[in-house]
Amino acid sequence: MERIWQKHYGRMPHEVDYENDGSVADLIERSVEKFADLPAVNSFGTTRSYAEIGRLSRDFAAYLQNGLGLTKGDRVAIMLPNIIPFHVASFGMIRAGMVQVNVNPMYTPRELAHQLNDSGAETIVIASMVSGTLGAVLDQTGVKNVITVDLADLTAAPIPPAPVHAALGDAVKLTDALEQGAGMDFDRPDITQDDLLFLQYTGGTTGLSKGAVLSHGNLVSNVAVYDALAGHITEEGREIVITPIPIYHILALMVNCLSYWRYGALNVLIADPRDMAGFVKTLGQFKFTAMTGVNTLYNGLLHTPGFADLDFSSLKVCWGGGAPIQEAVSNRWFEVTGGHIREGYGLSETSPIVSMNLVDRNEYTGTIGIPVPSTDISLRDDDGNEVGFGEEGELCVKGPQVMSGYWNRPDATAEVMTGDGYFRTGDVAVMDEEGFFRIVDRKKDMILVSGFNVYPNEIEGVVALIPGIVEAACIGVPNDRTGEAVKVFAVRSDDSLTEDAVRMTCREKLTSYKVPASVSFVGELPKSSVGKILRRELRSA
Ligand code: AMP
Repeated sequence: MERIWQKHYGRMPHEVDYENDGSVADLIERSVEKFADLPAVNSFGTTRSYAEIGRLSRDFAAYLQNGLGLTKGDRVAIMLPNIIPFHVASFGMIRAGMVQVNVNPMYTPRELAHQLNDSGAETIVIASMVSGTLGAVLDQTGVKNVITVDLADLTAAPIPPAPVHAALGDAVKLTDALEQGAGMDFDRPDITQDDLLFLQYTGGTTGLSKGAVLSHGNLVSNVAVYDALAGHITEEGREIVITPIPIYHILALMVNCLSYWRYGALNVLIADPRDMAGFVKTLGQFKFTAMTGVNTLYNGLLHTPGFADLDFSSLKVCWGGGAPIQEAVSNRWFEVTGGHIREGYGLSETSPIVSMNLVDRNEYTGTIGIPVPSTDISLRDDDGNEVGFGEEGELCVKGPQVMSGYWNRPDATAEVMTGDGYFRTGDVAVMDEEGFFRIVDRKKDMILVSGFNVYPNEIEGVVALIPGIVEAACIGVPNDRTGEAVKVFAVRSDDSLTEDAVRMTCREKLTSYKVPASVSFVGELPKSSVGKILRRELRSA
């Protein structure tokens, strides 16, 4: 397969040079010094400067070291929405050399317990409003230290604190931890690019939630990639980036929190993007220059009254990924804002950016763009051989952004790494004559709901345990609003069991985007000769 995409690099380097950029801790500290008085993060109408986030994260790092006795390499979980304390806690643990375990705040107790036990995190920073999730399973985990955060912490917002679950009686408030940390020494450890930074939990290709191990070097290289893509339209100290996608996700962490931090930008955090009217109101208060999002979110904004009347004169680029960007949405976005959504592709395992459409081409390509600098894509058949031009193959990627493996799971790691150092993504793609890649299928059974990954095994496991259910299978079906939606086919032994009852149980055990949109009761499920459920047949049924 000829690497024809390289002709598009134009002014972009083929390789990024990041080896001398130091660690993510260095990146954070450099901007604190360089942009000290500039606005850094905004949430609920309060803005904190680079110097303030620098001081508060130092205090938190000191508290972790001296208040809790944690040391470099310890895993610390963080379960927060997009609020200023996320920056403080995250940057504090990074500066203290700890490994940040990012947890979706929407998780159910079952999902949280798995992640805590798998990562071995004994410390968690958690929003009080979801403290019940931890309280319900605390005794099933090894958690020793709980730090609670209220939405309005470190802001002037009049949001009352949420009650903390009774089981977390020993929890410390973040604001108290910071006060204690302010009086403690911070002993900055040596941190290299090989040191671990994030455990990013993902179903990967099999569905079992496991931690992609990302190092400082992985993220610093992807920050350098972002600079190669967008550095020429970016002015230090003058950018305003909007962050509606959750910052526990690697896309927002890398682009919004780290790349724009490096530029001395103001990061505007949207805590609840489902409140579209509130989101549009916030947008109206800033001359924003960049935004990241998923198709559902862009579509939602286009349908929100007042959005089209905003001032887009400062807007330079909007990035989309996680799921396909629809042509109608990009075209409408272009009509309203003057720019198409630049679609990219990436995964938790790749820090995340693998490929991207070009800023300089203001058009909808219907592709995931070209491989970013220092990155090679090889499309491979089932035997691991590279396919010919125009043929479909599994998208395999090699580059400095690729994880070293899954946390404590050598077998799962071996399954996704090829002998010649490529990571197998489980996505099937084809390259066009311009060198742009198009995702055409998935080898993995994953379902994409509004950009969130849902794995059939997990849903089937929950449904199968419902009394009156014999067996169940789950597929993704097209949905106008969310891209795909979860549909369950189930065989029941109890005819009085209803679709609503099944969905209700799912709602107790699964995060909302995983809950089936519909349940069909059938006489039997299609199976192969060895008894494997044939999801493909259900899809074509
Ligand atoms: P995550 O690890 O949550 O970032 O999910 C990664 C998966 O999201 C990929 O393996 C793809 O299946 C899917 N994905 C990401 N970006 C795109 C895109 N632009 N188009 C289609 N699927 C995408």
